[in-house]
Formats: sequence, C-alpha cells, structure tokens
Amino acid sequence: MLKRRGPGNFSYYSEEMNNNSLKRLAIEANLRNAIENNELRLVFQPQLRLSEFRYRNVEALARWHNPELGHVSPGVFIPIAEETGLIKQIDLWVISESCKQIKKWNEQGLTDLTVAINVSAGHLISHSLLEHLKTEIIVNDIRAEQIEIEITEEVFVEQTERTIKNLKAIKKLGARIAIDDFGTGYSSLQYIRDFPADTLKLDGMFIRNLESDNSSQGIVRATIILAHSLGLELVAECVEDKWQLDFLREHDCDIIQGYYLSEPLNASEIPAICAKNVF
Ligand code: C2E
Ligand code: MG
Ligand code: MG
Repeated sequence: MLKRRGPGNFSYYSEEMNNNSLKRLAIEANLRNAIENNELRLVFQPQLRLSEFRYRNVEALARWHNPELGHVSPGVFIPIAEETGLIKQIDLWVISESCKQIKKWNEQGLTDLTVAINVSAGHLISHSLLEHLKTEIIVNDIRAEQIEIEITEEVFVEQTERTIKNLKAIKKLGARIAIDDFGTGYSSLQYIRDFPADTLKLDGMFIRNLESDNSSQGIVRATIILAHSLGLELVAECVEDKWQLDFLREHDCDIIQGYYLSEPLNASEIPAICAKNVF
C-alpha cells in the first residue's frame, strides 16, 4: 500500500512497519497502568571505585514485566515513555522506590551506599522532580548525598534557566549530579565547564572495543584527563573484561561499572556483595 507523506513524497507500508506500530501502541497502552499494576521493579548494578576494594555505589535500573508483552527492556519503553509524557510518573516512582530502598539498606547497616537514579532530561524543566526528591529524602530519613541524579547530554539541548536552577537546587540539597552516556550526544566543552555536575559517565561505546581500537583508547585517556581537570569523577560503563579494567585503572579512571564486575542485581543481593572484598 502507498502512503502519501506530503507533496511528491511516497513510501510503502510494509507488514513489518504495521506490526511495529501495533507493538508500540500495545507498549504505550500497557505502560499507562504499569505502576498501578505493580509491573515495574528496580534492579541495582554495582559500580566499583578503583581506589577501593568494596562496592559503595550502585545504579538503579528499571525493569518492566507485563503479562501480555512479557519482559520489555528499558531501551524500548523509556523512549516511548519520554515521547508520551509517561516518563514523569516513572521517574517519580523510581525516586520514591530508590529512597525507600536506601532507607532499608541504612537500617541493615549499609549506611554509606550512593544510589545513581536515571532521570529524563526533559523532566528537569519542571519543579516537581526537585520537590518530590526533597520530600522522599525527608520522609525516608536518608541523607541527600546518598543520591546521584543521572541525566543524559540532552539536558544541554533542553537547558533553560529553569533546568539549570533546578539542577543547582538538587546539588544544594546535597545530592550529586552525573552526566550519563557522555560522548554520544550534544556535549560542548562550554556546557560541561559551566554545568553543575560531579560525575561524567563515559558511554559504553568507547569501552566496547577498547583493546583493539586505538582511537577509543585515546578518547578514554583524554576524557579521564578532561573530567579531572574540571574537578569531575569519571565513571566508565559497560566494562566487560579484565583488559578494559586494567587499562582504566592504569589511566586513573575513578569508577567502573559493567558485566565483568556484576550484572544489575535484586536489592536483597546488594548487602552481601558490598560486604565482600572485590579482588
Ligand atoms: P544507562 O543509564 O546508560 O544504563 C546502563 C545500561 O547498560 C543498562 O541497560 C545496563 O544494564 C547496561 N549494562 C551494564 N553493564 C553492561 C555491560 O557490561 N555491557 C553492556 N552491553 N551493557 C551493560 P538497561 O538497564 O537496559 O537500561 C538502558 C537505558 O534505559 C539506561 O541506560 C537508561 O538510559 C534507561 N533507563 C533504565 N532505567 C531507567 C529509569 O529508571 N529511569 C529512566 N529515566 N531511564 C532509565
Ligand atoms: Mg544511567
Ligand atoms: Mg549510560
């Protein structure tokens, strides 16, 4: 079937396109009730500070299991949530659940864990996220410095006075700010210099072929120096083997995260892994 997309522009509907849009519609419809139906949960991936031998940082990652759709990965449902505005409700839920979990870990004696929480860049324009974070910190009686808010470089595009003001207010609360997936998006050196961040998370695409790719090695070394010159810590994501770990340690990377150390875990597994010496 031919589809007209404007003057002189035709494209073909394919069965695949049709199936994809049906799947997308089903995801959108089911996502609307995912929180109320208790279909979302959080897992936590340990991050290792290379100067220590214990885990003291984890990243909260959303998981969604729907009876009709099965497991849907965040790489699929988060972009749809962002397009439809459902992300606001999801981000607030993730903040609440992470704060409740920090309280539980504190009560179990794990009092010095920092939890990184992913937040959609667009959400930071509104005041609601900041207010919600403040409330959850008070209600759960946790310390703000136990939270790191991860935002992607898109925040640089959407940055408005209000976004920057909200980020500064989050920092003033005592929480940390991390720039996620660094190197893949819209960063400019000026933004990074002026931005109230504490951490740069270098995207996994630069780590994946590190051993065989000289250019990636150069980018990693340069980014570590850049981060440190700006007073930021560097986290390397997607570390999958020992060669990558050794390279990052040799070049002074601060923190690493990836399957070589650990996959994302259930909350109940975190105290045991934090109690162990890593090497
Ligand atoms: P991200 O924040 O960059 O998260 C890191 C992703 O890399 C996670 O995928 C994690 O499971 C995966 N990963 C960790 N170690 C390795 C490794 O060694 N190799 C490889 N290949 N991958 C690794 P996940 O959980 O599927 O999340 C994908 C993206 O979805 C996240 O990227 C983040 O942008 C978004 N996301 C996940 N949870 C949330 C959430 O609660 N809120 C928001 N707003 N976004 C979320
Ligand atoms: Mg992240
Ligand atoms: Mg990332």
